[in-house]
Amino acid sequence: MFSLRLIVLVALVSTVAAGPWGQICAGNSGNRVRGRDNFGSGVYGASRSGGRKHRGVDVICSDGSTVYAPFSGTIERRVNPYKKNNAINNGLQLRGGAFCIQMFYIKPMKYSGRINKGEKIGVMLPMQSVYRGITSHVHVQNCDLSNPTHNL
Ligand SMILES: [Zn+2]
Repeated sequence: MFSLRLIVLVALVSTVAAGPWGQICAGNSGNRVRGRDNFGSGVYGASRSGGRKHRGVDVICSDGSTVYAPFSGTIERRVNPYKKNNAINNGLQLRGGAFCIQMFYIKPMKYSGRINKGEKIGVMLPMQSVYRGITSHVHVQNCDLSNPTHNL
């Protein structure tokens, strides 16, 4: 019975911080993922308009919060989530070790160079000014569009 309880406890804790990546947003130490709101769900594979799927995972992050590098590596380039510009149309592509990701909706400190895990790489852009009432978040997607959730 004790061992069962221990297993349950370990399972609960592991849902908070399971993966190799560090904290992504100040104020969200467990890399909690956006649940359902009026604009949809932030989990990988969630439905989007036009029959599309959400090919990333949305890590909760209040507007103006500091955003950290989830792993050590290199900033490869700027990436823009939208073709038509708006207040949150900015982001970065990062590569390090086996990881290659894109992070959307942040104002980067820089667009190239080395980064260390936990280093400030940017600030969460004003998502509420574009999607009033949404759970503000950093969108994180793998460069190959596979599911990144287990790395959080
Ligand atoms: Zn997203």
